[in-house]
Amino acid sequence: MGDNPLMPVADARARILDAVTPMVPERVTIAKALGRVLAGNVIAQRTQPPSDLSAMDGYAVRAADVTSVPARLRVVGEAPAGGAYGKGLNEGEAVRIFTGAPLPQGADSIVIQEDTERYGDIVIARAPAKEGAHIRRAGLDFKEGDVGLEAGRRLGAADIAYAAAMNVPVVIVHRKPRIAFFSTGNELVMPGTEPGPNQIVSSNNDGLAALIEGAGGVPFDLGIIADDIRAIQSAGRHAQDSDMLVTLGGASVGDHDLVQKALGEDGLKVDFWRIAMRPGKPLMFGTYREMPMLGLPGNPVSALVCAHLFLLPAIAAMQGTAAPNRMTRARLGRALPANDKREDYMRASLVERDDALPVATAFERQDSSMLSAMSAADCLIIRPPHAPAVAEGDVVSVLRLR
Ligand code: AMP
Ligand code: MG
Repeated sequence: MGDNPLMPVADARARILDAVTPMVPERVTIAKALGRVLAGNVIAQRTQPPSDLSAMDGYAVRAADVTSVPARLRVVGEAPAGGAYGKGLNEGEAVRIFTGAPLPQGADSIVIQEDTERYGDIVIARAPAKEGAHIRRAGLDFKEGDVGLEAGRRLGAADIAYAAAMNVPVVIVHRKPRIAFFSTGNELVMPGTEPGPNQIVSSNNDGLAALIEGAGGVPFDLGIIADDIRAIQSAGRHAQDSDMLVTLGGASVGDHDLVQKALGEDGLKVDFWRIAMRPGKPLMFGTYREMPMLGLPGNPVSALVCAHLFLLPAIAAMQGTAAPNRMTRARLGRALPANDKREDYMRASLVERDDALPVATAFERQDSSMLSAMSAADCLIIRPPHAPAVAEGDVVSVLRLR
C-alpha cells in the first residue's frame, strides 16, 4: 500500500468531472431562476425598443427646422410614454415628447427640454438639433429571434431582467443535483446536543450542507453514522434516489475507517482513494449503485478544502457549467519553506492592494483540524509538489475562498 502512488490533484479532479453528467432540464419561472444554469438558449420573443423612441424629455423635431438658433416651432401635440402622437410632423412643427415615447413620423431629432423655452403653443429651441440625437432606434437592445442568453449560463439578477424584457417568463434550467451525505464516527454528536465523554460536535454535516447549497445543489443530510459496517451500508442505501453520495470520515486506513469496506460489499467500485495533497490524503472516488461517490476526509478542514477542490466542480458540471474560476496570483506576505511531494493548500489571509497583486500570508498553524483558521482564511495558498522555498514578496497561486 505504501508504494501505491498518490494521484495528483488535477488528475483526480479530471476523473471526477469525467464521471458526472448534467442533470435533466426542468422549467422554472424567472422569479425562481436566480443562480440556476440554463439548459437551453433564451431567445428574444420581441424587439426592443419595438420602434424608435425618445431617450429624453423634450421636443421631437425635424433637425432641418433647427439648424440656426433660436428656432421657433409650433407645438402640435404630445407623446407620453405608453402613448403616441398619431399624425406626421410637418415643417416648423414640434411634438412635446417624454422619455420612452415613440418618435412621431417625420421627426428625426429630439431637442432636450433644458435647451428650450415654452410660450403657450410655441417652443423656442436654443440649441441646434442634430439628426438622430437622443433617439433610441428600434432593436437597439435586441431583436426578435436573437439568442439573448446561452445554455450553460448561471443566471444573475441582470440576466433575469433581460429574460423578462425578452418576454421569456419561464426558462429551462438543469435540475439541481441532490447530494446525499453522512458523517461517520462514534465520537460525533450533532450540534446542539451535549457531547458525552470523549465525544465532539460534528462540524462537517452543516459545513458541507452550506457549501452544497451555495454551489446550487440540494443537500440531503443523512446525519451521523456509527463506525459500523451495517450502519454505513444502511446509510448508503438511503442515498439511493440522490444524484451523488458524499461520505465524511472513515476513509483512511485506521481500524475504524470502514467506509470503503462497507460500501465495497454493497456495490461501490472505487476509482481512486489516495491523492497527493495536504490537507486530505484519504480522498476516495468511485461509483456506488450508479451514483458518483466521493469520500471526503473526516478532519473538518480537510473535508472543506477537498469539497472546494473536488465537490464544487462536480456540482457545477452536474448543472451543465463550470465552477467559477477563483484562482488568482498573490505576493507572499511571509516566506514559506520547500514543499514535499504532496500539493499543499495553506490557509491564508488575502489583503487587496490598489494597482498591485494582493498579499497572501499563510497562517502560522496549518493543522487540518483547525476550523478557526479555516473560517478566518480568505484564500488557500497553493504549493505545488516539490516546490522550492519561496521568499516574502514572491508570486504564488492562491484559491480565493470568498
Ligand atoms: P476520520 O477520517 O474518520 O479518521 O476522522 C479524522 C478526524 O476528523 C478525527 O479526529 C475525527 O474525530 C474528525 N472528524 C471526523 N468526522 C468529523 C465531523 N463530522 N465533524 C468534526 N470532526 C470530524
Ligand atoms: Mg472516523
